[in-house]
Amino acid sequence: RAIDLRKITDKTTGCITEAFKADSFHEKINLGVGAYRDDKGKPYVLPSVRTAEKKVVDSALDKEYAGITGVPSFTKAATVLAYGSSSDAVKNDRIAITQSISGTGALRIGGEFLARHYPSSKKIYIPTPSWANHNAVFKDSGLEVVKYRYYNKDTIGLDFDGMVEDLKAASEGSIVLLHACAHNPTGIDPSEQQWREISNVVKEKKHYPFFDMAYQGFASGDTNKDAFPVRHFQSEGHHFCLAQSFAKNMGLYGERVGAFSICCESAEEKKRVDSQVKILVRPLYSNPPIHGARIAAEILNNPELNQQWLKEVKGMADRIISMRALLKENLEDLGTKHDWSHITSQIGMFAYTGLKPEQMDKLAKEHSVYATKDGRISVAGITTGNVKRLAESIHQVTS
Ligand code: PLP
Repeated sequence: RAIDLRKITDKTTGCITEAFKADSFHEKINLGVGAYRDDKGKPYVLPSVRTAEKKVVDSALDKEYAGITGVPSFTKAATVLAYGSSSDAVKNDRIAITQSISGTGALRIGGEFLARHYPSSKKIYIPTPSWANHNAVFKDSGLEVVKYRYYNKDTIGLDFDGMVEDLKAASEGSIVLLHACAHNPTGIDPSEQQWREISNVVKEKKHYPFFDMAYQGFASGDTNKDAFPVRHFQSEGHHFCLAQSFAKNMGLYGERVGAFSICCESAEEKKRVDSQVKILVRPLYSNPPIHGARIAAEILNNPELNQQWLKEVKGMADRIISMRALLKENLEDLGTKHDWSHITSQIGMFAYTGLKPEQMDKLAKEHSVYATKDGRISVAGITTGNVKRLAESIHQVTS
């Protein structure tokens, strides 16, 4: 036997969703899912997406293959959304971009591209903690994953000094992964001033930045504000790459709409990079799916729909922000001894509560509240209907 399947080990681990499903308590709460829910706890399809999809279907387009880099009206608009129409990189046509299988696919193309073509280093620095999949994506791309400090468990805030120290200590020309906004899992982002300092350190050390922007618009409700780090690095003259996802900000999770781009030095360099991206993508999946990209393109390119979408993104972000405030308020009303201000200072889909694994276990076993052991809760799973019971449960396991 070429492969001995008897030696393949089962690595299945306990899953929150399974435990949640198996619980028969009617007031159970699932805070493990990384997808937006409305105030009834239901999945939400944006009205702008419904309209865009109808337009796409009504125009009875053919189902021919896209080119290797996807639907051009989508990738062009995705570039403008991230970098801004007035950015030097857009104006001078020096951004190489390809459609990708959502954000994960973009990260993987980026990892593979850097493993092949980045001469200075095979090391990619990712924050501690980071989105659980980063390590596997980059390892499987052929990069060596190294960690930099990010989260300070004593302050439940950013360990900015530790982060800067680690970036300074990294060997010159390392690749550095940066969450552009709504850091997952902590919900803690650097301030604009801190981003400026990070940009300076990255420049000083000639590191190569790799931005992961999975939540543009979802953090603050403003797509321009959330793109600040990417745009600032661009205006500071950095060359870098960027993974974009439209899963969260358009609610297109299962459509797998994303983009990978490289901000190059010149239009001429962009052409060469483009050709290498195509060489990399072709044997992976030939070309990406078209339906979700057409929906996203319609939303980004139709001025009226675009305005509507921006309002809907803000609506999602605002609901999350108000649920944070409500959870904190409820905890305070219960007379908590703890300072929960981090719940409202953090941003995006997740709150890093600071709860210990034993407390998370108790939440699940005694209160039917399910979330990951690291204390991360999906704020999108909180509603006006369950916040009181959630606060009471958290209060009990932390008293
Ligand atoms: N990056 C981060 C930080 C994420 O949190 C996620 C999803 O949760 C992704 C990338 C990729 O998401 P998707 O592949 O669904 O676009």
